[in-house]
Amino acid sequence: MRPEDLLLPTPAGVCCKPGGFHIDPTRPVDKAVITHGHSDHARAGHGAVLATQETLDLMRLRYGEAFAGSTQAIKYGESIALGGAKVTFHPAGHVLGSAQIAVETNGLRVVASGDYKDVADPTCAPFALVPCDVFITEATFGLPVFRHGDPDAEIAKLLRSVALFPERAHLVGAYSLGKAQRVIALIRKAGYDKPIYLHGAMEKITRYYQSRGIDLGRIELARGVAKADLAGTITLCPPSTLKELWSRRFPDPVTCFASGWMRVRARARQHLVELPLVISDHADWNGLTATIAATGASEAWVTHGQEDALVHWSVTHGLQARPLDIVGYGDEDDGEVTAEVSDPGEAT
Ligand SMILES: [Zn+2]
Ligand SMILES: [Zn+2]
Repeated sequence: MRPEDLLLPTPAGVCCKPGGFHIDPTRPVDKAVITHGHSDHARAGHGAVLATQETLDLMRLRYGEAFAGSTQAIKYGESIALGGAKVTFHPAGHVLGSAQIAVETNGLRVVASGDYKDVADPTCAPFALVPCDVFITEATFGLPVFRHGDPDAEIAKLLRSVALFPERAHLVGAYSLGKAQRVIALIRKAGYDKPIYLHGAMEKITRYYQSRGIDLGRIELARGVAKADLAGTITLCPPSTLKELWSRRFPDPVTCFASGWMRVRARARQHLVELPLVISDHADWNGLTATIAATGASEAWVTHGQEDALVHWSVTHGLQARPLDIVGYGDEDDGEVTAEVSDPGEAT
């Protein structure tokens, strides 16, 4: 059997013919298997959805109860037979509930990793390496210039700035699902124990993380707090709000942005960011290439970002490789390309 007989890239996403399902479909399908809750991977309107409990809950929070015809929760390490295929979920280390999906039949195993990172994150289960024949990898940061570095060192920069400027507020732009909660957890890990403030758009998801036992310390809404009382504080907000009227309620704000793209100075300038924080929920170039090699796969399928360099790297390292060219996956690390915050006109 060829891998393409098991999983086939189609305009609606990767399709498993023998199993009768699509993975992270970009348009409504009968049966969807979903890697994680980001809106470009987890869309409303499918017939049946199979995903982790956290991903199903996050979809419900975003889209309401009727987001799918029916749902089924699956745990990490659990396998389910779908038609002629066996499907197993493994942690992807990307955001709470994120999973890689291993699809098997007749001794052939393809792993669709969704989005992933191979570094520690206090808010989700660590990435699990799954040996396979074909590894489907994202390529959001699929260029050698992208090395994310140590997130704790970025948080130390933030806390140094907070200590230096007690009369100013610090506004940290961060994607609402995953990044914001990870930044809060990293700030706590660094020993900061004062309340951390939130933009209202992040409240539901952040409270959900807390309800799943993720310790984020004391979290309060910035809404309704007097301007003077926000001096010396840290507030997390969707990146687009940094430039909006909303930010004027803060005393002389220091604008920060937590994203892998902050490695690129032009991006930081474009966002008018005073303090860029290079913190990403995606693997960097080293992480992507090390992971592809470690899976032992003889074939890599590359999607979702800068496919060419990673395809080239794979081929020069003895793998067969191809770009998948599926349209419809966004870039939540950019912060502007999101459905849940305003400013769609600035999507890049
Ligand atoms: Zn994602
Ligand atoms: Zn993605």
